[in-house]
Amino acid sequence: MSLATPTTLPPAEAAEGRRHFGQFSLRGRVLLSQMPLTLSVALIVVAVAVFHPHIMTDHPYFLGGVGGVALLTVLAGVVPWGRLPPVVYWVIPLLDFVAIAPIWASARHGLDGMVMLSAFPVFWLAWSGIYPVIGVILGFVGSAAVTWWPYLPGTPAFAESLIDYDLHRPVVVPFIMLALAVAASVLTRSMDRQRRDLGAALDSSKTQNRLLQAVVETSDVGILVVDGDGHDVLMNQAQRRTHFIGLPPGRDDGAEHELLLFEADGVTPIPAEDRPVTQALQGHDYRGRIIAIGTDGAQQHLSVSASSMYDEEDNFDGTVVVFQNVTDLMDAIQTRDRFVAEVSHEFRTPLTSIIGYLDVALEEDLDPIVRKFLNTSQRNAERLLGLVTSLLDSAANSSKVTVQEVNLARLVRNSAESVEVQTKKAGLSLQADLPDRMDAKADPVKMGQVVDNLLSNAIKYTPSGGSITVSLRQLGGVGGVDGGGEWAELVVRDTGFGMTAAERGKLFTNFYRTEHVRKAAIPGTGLGLAITQGFVRAHGGEILVSSEKDVGSTFTVRIPLCGPDA
Ligand code: ADP
Repeated sequence: MSLATPTTLPPAEAAEGRRHFGQFSLRGRVLLSQMPLTLSVALIVVAVAVFHPHIMTDHPYFLGGVGGVALLTVLAGVVPWGRLPPVVYWVIPLLDFVAIAPIWASARHGLDGMVMLSAFPVFWLAWSGIYPVIGVILGFVGSAAVTWWPYLPGTPAFAESLIDYDLHRPVVVPFIMLALAVAASVLTRSMDRQRRDLGAALDSSKTQNRLLQAVVETSDVGILVVDGDGHDVLMNQAQRRTHFIGLPPGRDDGAEHELLLFEADGVTPIPAEDRPVTQALQGHDYRGRIIAIGTDGAQQHLSVSASSMYDEEDNFDGTVVVFQNVTDLMDAIQTRDRFVAEVSHEFRTPLTSIIGYLDVALEEDLDPIVRKFLNTSQRNAERLLGLVTSLLDSAANSSKVTVQEVNLARLVRNSAESVEVQTKKAGLSLQADLPDRMDAKADPVKMGQVVDNLLSNAIKYTPSGGSITVSLRQLGGVGGVDGGGEWAELVVRDTGFGMTAAERGKLFTNFYRTEHVRKAAIPGTGLGLAITQGFVRAHGGEILVSSEKDVGSTFTVRIPLCGPDA
């Protein structure tokens, strides 16, 4: 850490006293940088006093140098360096060279390694990080001056060295110092660069963290993050509100396992092992699970989704659980269903009466024009009744079937025969590939509606000249939907408009109609397939569709022959 770059001390670390060099004030750092030299000189003074006390008396410069180091140490600790331009504190290492010179010159004969003292200011200048090149050059010049000073012409050492022929002795020392200074400077600069990169990475991660925090807190969706040990790591404001709703009456705090959670019906309590967070902590990921939280008037419906998190070794590391309040949506769906059921019911009674009276009227001997008008009125009244019946069916509980022994082959044949005229009128060909008999336990009315609906769609959505095939076959135990029991498979295939994959995905949604059909104004409500799917599922079966735009569609219905309960 360079001296020139103070950083602030995080409060926690300061409290624990774990400060590192860079976290001291500039004055502290200057003093600390001076201390190795000060302590080394103190050691030398002790060694000289014990082993060569004559140095102190014979060489008055020695004590002068020691005094200089002491004075510089005091200055290092006293001067408010932080208030001065950073480079000013270089005065201390530079003056250190001046103080070291007499110490080294006086004690070099008594003690080895005196010249090493100049390594301290050399290092200091090199790692200070202010002007790296100038620092290295000054270190070299300073250490060279110290080393060669005793050998300068006119000094006693010069005379001595002439006698001993050892003028060459200090030649390499400044270069070794230079090498050390370069190494220290390179190391410091690379550490500074690393620190800057780390600082930038830290800043960017802090910014991202703040952004994430803002997004999470602003979100209306409750977010809960739990670590692998089940401890809450994050709970946003929306989730804190939801948590509060779920607390038992009279409580204003409590753990997750105390919350009042119910299944979507709002009354069946969710068993401990099935609770959303418990499930998520077992590593189960799920989407859009509807639950109710709280009781009475305060109860809310939530759509819950969970996603597991994994560490680098792919071990489970916690989970993110998201709670979306769907109370308004649930209320709206319930209100819509109630409205549709009530309105359809209210429409049906007068319509049935209108159709009945038109029937009676048509039995009379009528003027041809009047008969034509009445016929048109009856057709339209019947269409209206069909529409209302569809609406009522969609609102009614389609999951209830009344099963009885049914010959499915006959049921499908009847439906096919009853649309024959209609098919011909539409310019289509209809082929039926049916066995003579196929007995099943099914609801004849609802299965009849399934077949009628698929056939009527095939006719409506196939342009003139196309063909429709209806087939029924029995699937053995292995070929069944779940690999067990025997199944009936009804296939209705047409060469009609077909649909895209995206349209296929929405086909069984209430009121959904493809764009092409809507634009072509082909009559329909978009309820038929949703109702059909409800009926098939109520039989314990499934309905599949494969379709290609402008090529045709194939609807496949499979139901178990032994009825839904088997
Ligand atoms: P409806 O026929 O009253 O519109 P359905 O629920 O029966 O309602 O069908 C929903 C939509 O699915 C239709 O409007 C049509 O766009 C599409 N569809 C259904 N059957 C076919 C088919 N055989 N070929 C092409 N499109 C179809």
